[in-house]
Amino acid sequence: MIGRVDKIGVACSGGKDSTTLLYVLNKIFKPTKVKLIALAIDEGIEGYRDPNFDFLKKFCKESGVELKTYSFKKEFGKNLDDITEKDKETIPCTYCGVFRRKILNEKALEIGADKVATGHNLDDEAQSILMNQFRKNVRASAILGPVTGVVDSEKFVRRIKPLYFLTEKEIATFAYLNGIMDKFVECPNAILGYRNVVRDWLNEFEKKFPGTKHNIVSSFLATLPLLKENYKKGEIHSCRKCGGASSKEICQACVLLERIN
Ligand code: SF4
Ligand code: ZN
Repeated sequence: MIGRVDKIGVACSGGKDSTTLLYVLNKIFKPTKVKLIALAIDEGIEGYRDPNFDFLKKFCKESGVELKTYSFKKEFGKNLDDITEKDKETIPCTYCGVFRRKILNEKALEIGADKVATGHNLDDEAQSILMNQFRKNVRASAILGPVTGVVDSEKFVRRIKPLYFLTEKEIATFAYLNGIMDKFVECPNAILGYRNVVRDWLNEFEKKFPGTKHNIVSSFLATLPLLKENYKKGEIHSCRKCGGASSKEICQACVLLERIN
């Protein structure tokens, strides 16, 4: 998953998953020449980011990991709360996910990271697989997996998910036992998302039929190479507006920005 690298960007939110990831990667790579850089993005959600960022700053300082922070406000001129206020029809997560991915990719390219590691776990992946199935979004499934993306391009930094096969519960237990977990504040928008419904439903199902989440992910991985092969033909363009990487003429971030502007 990681291969030969000099620099890994670690997407950090100050939550238990990404902080556990940073803790483990730091343990592995501290004695080597590989440099880790924590990348944190402040979306501008009142009462949510500050406590988690304070914890992350402290954690990085104590572990000797460089931390770089970015914000929606600085990159796009607006906080997520301002955007939510302007567009009440769209759930905030739609903007949040697209803008976050754009910042992460651009900043990872800027710092010369070979890979970007994210704290996605088995629960996240099982939810994403089902959400894509329910919405008939096959293309979105093709970019899932432990290593994201379908085509190599110098415009994209590959995202990897080292915690891919671990459940949320396992990570929470590890974080707790290793003293990583602090008080973690949940995003107030989380209850609005489609993912939230799928998460509750899947947890209920797992309780009745243990192993369901693992089975969803394993059977998905059996078909993933075919999916990736099928979508390999798509080209990566430079967005006509911002110059960033995009599978279409105009990238999704610019489409969304135009909507709110
Ligand atoms: Fe962003 Fe939605 Fe996650 Fe909140 S729940 S951080 S709005 S994606
Ligand atoms: Zn663009």
